[in-house]
Amino acid sequence: MAGTDQPYGVQDPRVAYASEISDLVRLTEEALQDPGLADTPTTYVHLLAALLSFEGADVWGEWLDGLNDEEYEVSCPTCSTENFVAFGAHGFFSTTDSMYMKATTARKVPLQPQASSALAGLGRRLHNRALADDQSGVAHKLTYVFGNAQCAECDVVFSVAEAVVARRG
Ligand SMILES: [Zn+2]
Repeated sequence: MAGTDQPYGVQDPRVAYASEISDLVRLTEEALQDPGLADTPTTYVHLLAALLSFEGADVWGEWLDGLNDEEYEVSCPTCSTENFVAFGAHGFFSTTDSMYMKATTARKVPLQPQASSALAGLGRRLHNRALADDQSGVAHKLTYVFGNAQCAECDVVFSVAEAVVARRG
């Protein structure tokens, strides 16, 4: 495998601080067991994001909090138009109007959530975990974040999660 060798003298911080990080993972896992989280899904998402960061899933560790904002701003992979992907109190759609929460004539294209049985990889893992942790609202949002959106400008259908990673990665 080319390109995977670390230069001499540069140590991966996850190796250098492995025991500290495993302590943080354990503490975060304990915090995630708190029954009080049932009433505070935003705190639950913060903790889940922290867990992903400690595990090295940098993009989602940083951006999972978008679940709490009920919105991701992403670029269409085909035409680069900014799309606001909303999944919450305002509905479940993509639009190019950043003020979609106000009265707007902007086009809103319904999102295409992923069936929970069809989720794969990180999406599947987070969804299963949220269900096991009694966070059905979080699990429901994950089917949109790991589902598809249609660009409100050019109509191409794209993966929301891949667009988030492309934007932030
Ligand atoms: Zn587009």
